[in-house]
Amino acid sequence: MDDLDAFREETRRWLVANAPPSMRKPLAAGEDYCWGGRKGRWPADVARWLAAMAERGWTAPTWPREYGGGGLSEEEGKVLAQEMAKLGVRPPLVGFGLTMIGPLLLHVGSEQQKRRHLPPIAHGEIRWCQGYSEPGAGSDLAGLQTRAVRDGDVFVVTGQKVWTSFADKADWMFLLVRTDPDAPKHAGITFLLMDMASPGVTVRPIKLISGASPFCETFITDVRVPVENVVGHVNEGWGIAKMLLRFERNMIADAFKERDDAARLLALARRYLPADDGRVGQPIVRDQITQLEMDQACFDWTLARSRARVKAGHPPGPETSIFKYYGTELNQRRRDLAVRIAGPQALGWEGEGFADDEVKLTRDWLRSRGNSIEGGTSEVQLNIIAKRVLGLPD
Ligand SMILES: Cc1cc2nc3c(=O)[nH]c(=O)nc-3n(C[C@H](O)[C@H](O)[C@H](O)COP(=O)(O)OP(=O)(O)OC[C@H]3O[C@@H](n4cnc5c(N)ncnc54)[C@H](O)[C@@H]3O)c2cc1C
Repeated sequence: MDDLDAFREETRRWLVANAPPSMRKPLAAGEDYCWGGRKGRWPADVARWLAAMAERGWTAPTWPREYGGGGLSEEEGKVLAQEMAKLGVRPPLVGFGLTMIGPLLLHVGSEQQKRRHLPPIAHGEIRWCQGYSEPGAGSDLAGLQTRAVRDGDVFVVTGQKVWTSFADKADWMFLLVRTDPDAPKHAGITFLLMDMASPGVTVRPIKLISGASPFCETFITDVRVPVENVVGHVNEGWGIAKMLLRFERNMIADAFKERDDAARLLALARRYLPADDGRVGQPIVRDQITQLEMDQACFDWTLARSRARVKAGHPPGPETSIFKYYGTELNQRRRDLAVRIAGPQALGWEGEGFADDEVKLTRDWLRSRGNSIEGGTSEVQLNIIAKRVLGLPD
């Protein structure tokens, strides 16, 4: 038995012994993964599972141990993910700390920033949000107007961010600010880390068509942010911002699919379109499900290759726009198909006549509309693919 096989054995044994049975089930309606943070309240099993995994550093398995990670090699990290998938174990922690700002700081953060911010992320103690978009700056992100003026060893920040996912639940924000209003627009931007508890930060949730309020307006008035919270260099934040967007797009491409989506779609088709022999009644739906799952499998493998490169220390490149674009399309196809299979039963909102899982179909379908906007719209991804990946002329 080689080292990796031994690691697999030991990992499986540990997972079986330590994962509470409730953490080995798919999320039920109304349940969510653990996002950590000071403001979060989690059921006892969720908290127990987080604590057990965090103690081993397995919330961030391939991060170095000194920053709260597990210090696993890329191969060991893959084995852990495989064994968790085989046992149906939920991730102990999710969030923008693990998928966006953490990986960014590992690449370009100062030693002091890594030591201060990475362990609380890995332990689920601090939750992060992203302050990029503004009322006048979405696709044209470099047009952002939030100002930061130097005053000794702090920046005084004033402006407004919008569509800030989970700002009301986050403890810290990473944000883009304009530090040189006279420089060309891409040149005068700085990447900052801001404590949401700072005086002058006000958050207002925005209610969506789905009924939820997953994002907010964030008002920032004369907030004092220490200069040591600049990531990289003053006025050189645009390059950092783009690197983070690549981490984000990788994460978004990967995040939509739930582990047992394929089984769920099939079960749905058997439930609403049954045939006497136990198969799905409509051949055209059988075809559509098969095509979707084949496309998903190819996409998963491509994504896994790219993820392996990132874990090996290469920051993701502009090709992440392909993943973001295609992952979005796959997810929207999946949600559309689910709604078509369930027919009128997937048009419920609340009240009698609709089961909880039917209402979830409606809400998931509505939520998936946002996938082609968040993290940069599909049109913007196509522009990036054309220019930066294919090298096409303007
Ligand atoms: C669910 C969700 C979560 C989000 N979370 C966050 C968050 O946490 N933090 C954050 O900072 N932001 C967040 N956003 C905001 C998101 O990044 C912006 O909505 C997005 O970048 C688009 O910007 P906009 O809404 O201003 O649209 P606009 O930029 O005004 O675009 C409007 C339309 O014009 C098109 N368009 C614009 N420019 C071009 C072009 N050059 N070529 C072709 N078409 C173009 C766009 O594709 C779009 O269809 C979130 C958005 C959603 C939907």
